Amino acid sequence: MAAAESDREVPSALCSEFLNFSAKDTAARWLQVSDLPREVYQHLACYVPQIYCQGPNLNPQSEELLTQLLLQSPLEWYLCGEEPSTGLAKLEQINQPSQLCGHVFKVGEPTYSCRECAADPTCVLCMQCFLGSVHKEHRYRMTTSGGGGFCDCGDTEAWKEGPYCQKHEPNISDSSQEDPLAHLTPDMIARTYNVFSIVLKYAVDMLTWEKEDELPQGLEPPERADTYYCMLFNDEVHTYEQVIYTLQKAVNCTQKEAVSFATTVDRDGRKSVRYGDFQFCEQAKSIIVRNTSRQSKPLRVQVMHSSVVAHQCFALKALGWMGHVIRHSDALRRVLCQVGLQRGPEGEGSLVDTLMLCDSKMWKGARNVYHQLLMSSLLMDLKYKKLFAIQFAKNYRRLQTDFMEDDHERLVSITSLSVQLFTVPTMARMLITEENLMTTIIRTFVDHLRHRDLQGRFQFERYTAQQAFKFRRVQSLIGDLKYVLISRPTEWSDKLREKFLEGLDAFLELLKCMQGMDPVVRQVGQHIEMEPEWEAAFTLQMKLTHIISMIQEWCSSDERVLIEAYKKCLTILTHCHSGFTDGEQPITLSMCGHSVDTIRYCVSQEKVSIHLPVSRLLAGLHVLLSKSEVAYRFPEQLPLSELSPPMLIEHPLRCLVLCAQVHAGMWRRNGFSLVNQIYYYHNVKCRVEMFDKDLIMLQAGASMMDANHFLMIMLSRFELFHIFSSIDGRKRYSRENANKDVVQQNNTLIEEMLHLIIMVVGERFVAGIGQVHVCEEIKREIIHQLCIRPMAHSELVKALPENENKETGMERVIDSVASFKKPGVTGRGLYELRPACAKQFNLYFHHYSRADQSKAEEAQRKLKRQQGEDTALPPPVLPQFCALFGSLVKLLQCDVLLSILHTVLQWSLEPSGGHWSESMLQRVLHLIGMALLEEHQQLENSEEEATFSFTLKISRPGEAPSNSASILALLETLQNAPHLEVHKDTIRWILKTVASIKTMRERTATTPVADHGGQSQEETVRDKDKAERKRKAEMARLRREKIMAQMSEMQRHFINENKELFQQTSLDELEASASTSVEHSPTSADAALVCVGPRRTRVCERKQVVTCILCQEEQEIRPEGRAMVLAAFVQRSTVMSKNRQRLPPDPEKYDPIFMHPDLSIGTHTGSCGHIMHSHCWQRYFEAVQAKEQRRQQRLRVHTSYDVENGEFLCPLCECLSNTVIPLLPLKKTSSSCDPPTLGPWLKTIGQQVRSLHSAHRKAKATSAECLDSEPDCPAPQGFRLDHTPPSPYSDSIKEMLTTFGTATYKVGLKVHPNEQDPRVAILCWGSCAYTIQSIERLLVDEEKPLFGSLPCRQDDCLSSLVRFGSACWTAGCLSTVQTHFIRLLAALVPDPQVNGSPCILDVDMFHLLVSLVLSHSSVHCLDDSGVTVDVGQLHFLHLVTMAHVVQILLTSVPVEMTMEQESGGAEREEEEAVCRLYNSLRTHLGSALCEVSSGWHLWRCVKAGILPYLRATAIFFHHLNGVTPPPELHVFGPGQWEALCGYLSLPCNLLQLFYSHQDLMEPLLQGWCSHPAVKQCLQGSATLVSFPRESNQLIELPEDYSALINQASSFTCPRSGVDKSRAPTLCLVCGAMLCSQSYCCQTELDGEKEEVGACTAHTFSCGAGVGIFLRVRESQVLFLAGKTKGCFYAPPYLDDYGETDQGLRRGNPLHLCRERYRKIQKLWRQHSITEEIGHAQEANQTLVGIDWQHL
Ligand SMILES: [Zn+2]
Ligand SMILES: [Zn+2]
Ligand SMILES: [Zn+2]
Ligand SMILES: [Zn+2]
Ligand SMILES: [Zn+2]
Ligand SMILES: [Zn+2]
Ligand SMILES: [Zn+2]
Repeated sequence: MAAAESDREVPSALCSEFLNFSAKDTAARWLQVSDLPREVYQHLACYVPQIYCQGPNLNPQSEELLTQLLLQSPLEWYLCGEEPSTGLAKLEQINQPSQLCGHVFKVGEPTYSCRECAADPTCVLCMQCFLGSVHKEHRYRMTTSGGGGFCDCGDTEAWKEGPYCQKHEPNISDSSQEDPLAHLTPDMIARTYNVFSIVLKYAVDMLTWEKEDELPQGLEPPERADTYYCMLFNDEVHTYEQVIYTLQKAVNCTQKEAVSFATTVDRDGRKSVRYGDFQFCEQAKSIIVRNTSRQSKPLRVQVMHSSVVAHQCFALKALGWMGHVIRHSDALRRVLCQVGLQRGPEGEGSLVDTLMLCDSKMWKGARNVYHQLLMSSLLMDLKYKKLFAIQFAKNYRRLQTDFMEDDHERLVSITSLSVQLFTVPTMARMLITEENLMTTIIRTFVDHLRHRDLQGRFQFERYTAQQAFKFRRVQSLIGDLKYVLISRPTEWSDKLREKFLEGLDAFLELLKCMQGMDPVVRQVGQHIEMEPEWEAAFTLQMKLTHIISMIQEWCSSDERVLIEAYKKCLTILTHCHSGFTDGEQPITLSMCGHSVDTIRYCVSQEKVSIHLPVSRLLAGLHVLLSKSEVAYRFPEQLPLSELSPPMLIEHPLRCLVLCAQVHAGMWRRNGFSLVNQIYYYHNVKCRVEMFDKDLIMLQAGASMMDANHFLMIMLSRFELFHIFSSIDGRKRYSRENANKDVVQQNNTLIEEMLHLIIMVVGERFVAGIGQVHVCEEIKREIIHQLCIRPMAHSELVKALPENENKETGMERVIDSVASFKKPGVTGRGLYELRPACAKQFNLYFHHYSRADQSKAEEAQRKLKRQQGEDTALPPPVLPQFCALFGSLVKLLQCDVLLSILHTVLQWSLEPSGGHWSESMLQRVLHLIGMALLEEHQQLENSEEEATFSFTLKISRPGEAPSNSASILALLETLQNAPHLEVHKDTIRWILKTVASIKTMRERTATTPVADHGGQSQEETVRDKDKAERKRKAEMARLRREKIMAQMSEMQRHFINENKELFQQTSLDELEASASTSVEHSPTSADAALVCVGPRRTRVCERKQVVTCILCQEEQEIRPEGRAMVLAAFVQRSTVMSKNRQRLPPDPEKYDPIFMHPDLSIGTHTGSCGHIMHSHCWQRYFEAVQAKEQRRQQRLRVHTSYDVENGEFLCPLCECLSNTVIPLLPLKKTSSSCDPPTLGPWLKTIGQQVRSLHSAHRKAKATSAECLDSEPDCPAPQGFRLDHTPPSPYSDSIKEMLTTFGTATYKVGLKVHPNEQDPRVAILCWGSCAYTIQSIERLLVDEEKPLFGSLPCRQDDCLSSLVRFGSACWTAGCLSTVQTHFIRLLAALVPDPQVNGSPCILDVDMFHLLVSLVLSHSSVHCLDDSGVTVDVGQLHFLHLVTMAHVVQILLTSVPVEMTMEQESGGAEREEEEAVCRLYNSLRTHLGSALCEVSSGWHLWRCVKAGILPYLRATAIFFHHLNGVTPPPELHVFGPGQWEALCGYLSLPCNLLQLFYSHQDLMEPLLQGWCSHPAVKQCLQGSATLVSFPRESNQLIELPEDYSALINQASSFTCPRSGVDKSRAPTLCLVCGAMLCSQSYCCQTELDGEKEEVGACTAHTFSCGAGVGIFLRVRESQVLFLAGKTKGCFYAPPYLDDYGETDQGLRRGNPLHLCRERYRKIQKLWRQHSITEEIGHAQEANQTLVGIDWQHL
């Protein structure tokens, strides 16, 4: 492109311009001109396109610089009238900053709110302010900000207490009311005014500019080029993938560029994707539009002239610039506010108005920038905040309508500012009174829900997707309404009353549209065709719940408002009712001599709706009339005479009957939607304004009606009237309907009706209904929850309703009813009910579901049994009703109820009648109990005559035709009925209460003295009763204990018999038991136990017999026998790494023969310890493979293990495994007579090696002809070069040797399996050494003894691993292993024929020892001279130990040793010796080694440094040679040096090794020190590994979780540089913070095609594929293994209630729990992370489906 060519020269052209430019002069010129705006515009028109118009890739830094110099600087000069930096500093100095903090939150930043002092939950503090506030000692809530919003510190209206932090505390001299402008000169004010009005006008013009190819007047560029941008805009319709795909096609970019474009579009709202001439851009546009218009509306694309884009870019910069300038001075800020809100000369809207009204048309980035400016200007100036709020309220309807049309999230809409304005209480009230805001919001809301039925009610049933979308957006209006109402007025003005009631009118109109909406009709015959949409209606109800509650609270705070509201609500309700058009014919019901008029209506046949908000609001207000006593003080002002109780109860009753019928199964054909609705009706989120209020309405109605009439109407609505209205009605009815279903249905309905009566009379815990304090209600809720079982804090919170402040009020009362029990390392803290509260238990508590009820019943009965009490659960004693509801108690003794009770009792006399149920009887007994308690209470309390005479009434015979037995008589009969055993206790309790009431009545009737005898007689009866019960309880207890004992005996048996099944007995245990005779024989008891060398303790040959877990057959382990294998899991590990920077080696070229002492990567082998036949395992694995293949074909689901990679689950314990280790017997030992000492032996070995060299050369020469330059070396005597030792093992064992070797090789190097590779054996030895080292570390960290404390499975694993290591050479090529041996030996004993041996500082000595010992067999097998392997083992041990001592002296002696602490001479010999050795090292190395004279210190260093090596060596030889360790090593603690040295056949003074072979050692020492790498290492800056190597720990975590959140919130994505990371994730191993789960940080791994997320990528560099992370935003630990495995794990952070908060939903302060963190660390050190993931995935299959590699 030609255009592109010339582009590059422009910056330099600009350079010359800029050299000649003077901001000062320009500003001075501007001071002179008359038309400043025109002048400035000209300036901008000239420069802006030159700076911002420069193609796609201008360096943003130079753009920044040019903007500053050419554009902003002159403006600043003009504004300040002097050097800007001086001017602004001066301004800052005279500034008196406001007390508002105003810190604007970034996404993910922690915010704090005080649950005790915040005016509402939107009041938050930033971390800094919080830490300096009083609230950190209060109950606070911590959340992460979603971005936007600011710190409310300093806002006195936001906090009930402590509004200022220390930093923002106002000084006393402060005159905050003063006008900030007073400090500025008029000149300065005028200049500021000029600049701001021009710049703001310019910015507003540009941001709201809609033409693509033209500019506003005065801004046209001097010359116009044909340069355009193709601008892509964000929408919420297209996915990331669609956009990326389209862009690749349209503008021909790479995937990476496309991702970057899409990310920017998503973040900023727009991005130019092409730059060039018009044609070029237009072409891209049309492709994008064409490609995205298929399914939905196309992506928005514009081709814009470059100068337009340039000015828009600068407009954004200019807004940011103003925001920056006003930060210096409150006065400048005020000027900007003035400019922004000033109306135009002709009264047109202000600039801020213009911005607001164009909000929905702007792109995201522009909106964000100007919102930011509004927040830092208008919202920070209290005077202008008010003016702005008024403008905002005036525009409210229009703004909301724009928002509805727009598709962006609310966060980027101007409407989201409502939270900043409406939550200020004075502001909210002002807006209600001045701008009628409440009405505006509600009307706007109602206007947007246009879909109505014929009666004008909302109709959600058949909502379309588009309507649903709009409905979601319109819900934010309810949020605004909530803000406005959240703080109740303490004082009412007449204007406020007027406007609030006007708002209430609007609100009632809204509720009227909901009253009776979405009605249902019972489906008979066939099932409903389509489930109706019900969620929308319930969402609306749920969202309004708090509003309705808040409106009631507003009403309760003013009597006049309450009265008016009550009237209005009643009017609307009456209006609603007249609107119903169901066929309601009047009928008359008669029963028990009473009759009542009602209508004919059946819930089961006609329309019924669950939505009755108007009735429910009236019920709420009715309670308030009682609570505030308005009902008694101003009865004349209330429309009480207009109330029609039957009308009030009608609809709530229908709704409750509907629930009963649904329970009874009558509405099954109406599908799940109805079941769900009923569920939510009772659910804690809705019930306060649904179920609870319906119940209250029944109570209100019943209290105003004749009790008999009420019950008759109720019977009729329950469609049960015909059953109870005549005595034999039920019989006749059941004869007619032999249908079992109908009988069952009716039984349930009767139960439900009885329950409802219990609730109507018994629910008195709402203040205003009963005479209770407000907190009683919540106490009772908690008691009844805890009666079910002890619960965690969060469970209780979930079970209790929250108010609009998200508070349950639980904290105030919980301690009075419950005690807290702390959690252990797992689980969570629990609240337990205080025993004293159990007597308040009510089985028919209205908020119990049926399931809750039966659980609570069971728990409470159990409790009573445990305490040896009877199991009756009588009703609790209830508080008194308030006067307005007082007449409700009459229900308990009215004729109709007595008749119902009588009928049910009569039925229950017939055990097999089938037409009654126990639940029915139980409810009847409960009702009788309630009535008795009522009477008892009246007798006890009342000064006047008791009106209650229930005992009298139940003693009368039945009134019905047949003059049947009285209720009391029926009860006495039932007491002895055998089929009612369960209820016996209750009936007995009733009869006793009746008796005691009778005595009370008699006592009041007669003289109190008289019945003293009767009393005592009764008491003796009672005592006898009690004694009997106690005896029975004791018997029961004994019986229980006996059963328990029997059971545990049986369990023990079972475990014993199946021990192998649960845990394979350790091989060692078997051996130990077999060898007891040996151990107790005098020789071995006296002689010290030695595990290595010619003097090693002989171990008896013994049989090892194990059982296969698959076929249960026993099998002896023999070399020539069938192979037995252990399930094993091999993994790479970096757990012990001392250098995480080291890059993973290239698997193809890597030579693993020497392990570096930094142990940066190793191979770990673990096992669950379960043993199988090799052939059994093979069969099993083949079956798993086949099954997996079938499954993949069928379902394409994944499993927790990767079969293709050889993974399987242990068939017994389901532990993840990926290979098997063969079990091998101990080597037979032969004794050697005269062991050679080190010198001669080394000589022999040297000869052997030399002869091997030439033999190997010869072998090579036969294939490739070459001249033998070196002399042939003859083999020493007894060394048979031509000998090929036969393998001692059976074929199956040989096969398994190969299997395990190959698996270790494959995993350890991450390569494809190749059993021929020479490195196979090396990796096996390495894994053996690494595993032993890691276990040795683990034992130290856990403070456990070296021997005897490992679980059997680890012991078995180590034994088989070591023995395998000693045998694996037989499976490979002999000469290869010999070569390895030669190379290994050469690292210590120089061998001229071996090149490239490492220096001893680069070798991990334990790895070297293990490899040397295990590879030596390949050479020793040719030796026929009678020298045993033991000799070799001992000499290797001595050699390597000496090398390690030298290594330690070279690396681990601290440079400075101030504390000279000579010992008392106990180890004088050692100290002198080590000094000598150190000094001779210094003679070899000179100044590279510092001077140390303290032998004591040197010896300390050596001892401490070498100990881990000695311990690991002891483990190694123990398992290799099978010698029992001495008892000293079975305990943990100091003083094991001697035991350890003895066991290892080493002198306690290790230095003796040197001096007993001094002639040999001198040249060796010199050889080691003269390796060129040694000096490099010592002098180089590369960090030396020093000994002992400390165990790695997971990183330190802060005590307070918010510190982590804060750290994460300032973390930006490392790739994109500026973006906040959405899922910042902390690596707990190395402390790296990663940008997880995001496109921006995906990378390719190992050149594989698929991209993986940052966490997965990190695991490969940091943890060799295994990772432990903390997802900071989620408060969740993440375990990852490989690319496909992962699971979430409970974080080590707990709140004060002993609970974690995964997802940070509750916001309680979280603190580090060290025990739990240690547990995670242990999992890591044990290499159990992968295993843990496997178990988690097996337990929860959904974890398998997650794309872990994207995290
Ligand atoms: Zn703050
Ligand atoms: Zn503050
Ligand atoms: Zn507080
Ligand atoms: Zn088997
Ligand atoms: Zn197992
Ligand atoms: Zn990123
Ligand atoms: Zn890491």
